Amino acid sequence: MNYAQVFSQLEKEISLAGAEKEALEYVFLAKKKWTKTDYILKQNDSVPQKDYQLLVEITKQLKEHYPAQYLVGEVEFHGARLQVDKRVLIPRPETEELVDLILKENLEDDLSVLDIGTGSGAIAIALAKEKPSWFVTASDLSSEALALAKENADNNQVEITFSQSDVFSTISESFDLIISNPPYIAKEAINEVDSNVLLHEPHSALFADNNGLAIYEKIAKESKNHLKQNGKIYLEIGYEQGQLVKELFETSFPSKTIRIIKDSFGLDRMVVIL
Ligand code: GLN
Repeated sequence: MNYAQVFSQLEKEISLAGAEKEALEYVFLAKKKWTKTDYILKQNDSVPQKDYQLLVEITKQLKEHYPAQYLVGEVEFHGARLQVDKRVLIPRPETEELVDLILKENLEDDLSVLDIGTGSGAIAIALAKEKPSWFVTASDLSSEALALAKENADNNQVEITFSQSDVFSTISESFDLIISNPPYIAKEAINEVDSNVLLHEPHSALFADNNGLAIYEKIAKESKNHLKQNGKIYLEIGYEQGQLVKELFETSFPSKTIRIIKDSFGLDRMVVIL
């Protein structure tokens, strides 16, 4: 059989399993380091045994809803290449919008920044790449996530201070910017989460108590002792949490201005406290 025939057969199997068939081409090309053009030129060639085995193996994992990004092992996030595996959440495009907002609103060269719950290091690494003169600290509760984030920082040649911490539990400094994309899905909403996410991404990075608000509550309370004068807080939120998160921070920071900002899908996605 040629590549086109094998793909068509395996893609059918993937669709029948309720998974995304487009992922087969994405993962296979990435593993072979082929461009789309390389693939188009080979479509009518017969498939060597080892490529066939690789395609069958990828198909098996996709049918089990294994995320394509974990199979490839890396993603691009805001110009940084990041390794990802089951220790960390796969960075989402919405989070790139949070990075864009922070860069647009903070032009100073000497800011100190804390990224709480850094996971793969995505936010911290993207900021350190764009702003090498910022002092960037990244924390996570998970030592496994921190190990991967450190590798990602090294691979991207950025300097970041890493700290294992439950929000501010081991952090004593104050910062100009406190940033977080914490776990925010309500445990009760588990049925609304895609199989890919639910079966394979770390639940500690997804779900939080108190209707998904538990970590924002902690950040709201504890940031008071860790935010420099005129410091700002940037948060990613679930699309239904804008008003509730705003109220939490109004209580902690009565004199600050709080904005809810939409993502490119038109959904509430960020809260800024300034
Ligand atoms: N946005 C993520 C999702 O859709 C959730 C990430 C988070 O809880 N921070 O799965």
